[in-house]
Amino acid sequence: MSLDLELCWQGVVSRDASQDGAFYYGVMTTGVFCRPGCSARQPKRQNVRFYATTGEAERDGLRACLKCHPLALSAADPLTGRIRGLCDYIDRHADAALTLAALGRQIGLSTFHLQRAFRAIVGVSPKQYVDAARMKRFQALLREPKGLDVTASIFEAGYGSLSRLYEKTDRRLGMTPMEYREGGKGVEISWSASETPVGLMVVGATDRGLAFIQFGDTEAALLRALEDQYPRATIRPMGEPSAEFLEWMAGLNRYLAGHEPNLRLPVHVRATSFQLTVWKYLQRIPAGAVNSYSEVAAAIGQPKAARAVARACASNSVAIAIPCHRVIRGSGELGGYRWGLARKRTLLDTERTLTQTG
Ligand SMILES: [Zn+2]
Repeated sequence: MSLDLELCWQGVVSRDASQDGAFYYGVMTTGVFCRPGCSARQPKRQNVRFYATTGEAERDGLRACLKCHPLALSAADPLTGRIRGLCDYIDRHADAALTLAALGRQIGLSTFHLQRAFRAIVGVSPKQYVDAARMKRFQALLREPKGLDVTASIFEAGYGSLSRLYEKTDRRLGMTPMEYREGGKGVEISWSASETPVGLMVVGATDRGLAFIQFGDTEAALLRALEDQYPRATIRPMGEPSAEFLEWMAGLNRYLAGHEPNLRLPVHVRATSFQLTVWKYLQRIPAGAVNSYSEVAAAIGQPKAARAVARACASNSVAIAIPCHRVIRGSGELGGYRWGLARKRTLLDTERTLTQTG
């Protein structure tokens, strides 16, 4: 289906919200894409390109607008209700063998169409959603008062085997011990800076994942922190971002805008084995939930290590991707946060709203 560019442009000029979902427009000078009804300042015609789907805009390297949230569910899209129903179905059947073909049959779409529509509407692939649902179920089973043991939970949650679970959790973390000892020697890190709802953010990535996500007041200070963290790595500004990097950024932006509770980002960080153990555990605390430092210590089998857990949280260099903001004091006070308590509170509030309404 091709777009009528003149009609699209008229929709942008008149901020026609009734065309929401019919097309999206990207502003090449700002790198952002919007819904037709967006309240942002009107761009010049020559800077605008039109897209039938959000996926096409993202493939052009554009980020979702923080005002009109073009990646959020659009009520105008007739597929939205069906895809949403499918998400509920996955949540309820996370323990079953949910192949793409089975999901397609469930909703009456070809696997190709399902993949496209699901990603466009939910923001992640059906497989990523199934993985997240399983991880959530696994967590819930472990938390039950007279809970199942770990092995039983793994099978109950639909993983089928221990190795499949570890495959899922391990791939999300960790430079090799060698890379760690050498201060990031031989590792290439590209960075980019952007404004977010919680302030200036610098993101550093290797080809394997996110190595640095931090918030601060100036780009210079954030870059110094990046260099301190990886003194021997090759660090350079992001040139042409890879498709993967754009996907990670789109996920981060969705999360920060309050549209993505189940954010899963691959992380590639320097860590001691104790830090790794703590951080991996943190990644399994569901959005909207919190643990105390001593609960984390007990959960990783070192009940006396609450202080060390607090230090591991404070030394986290990838905010959000390793959700150290989900650990608070046993008294219910927020405790500390490397990037300020106001940010910690905002992140927790956003997650609570999301998990209560969604
Ligand atoms: Zn917009």
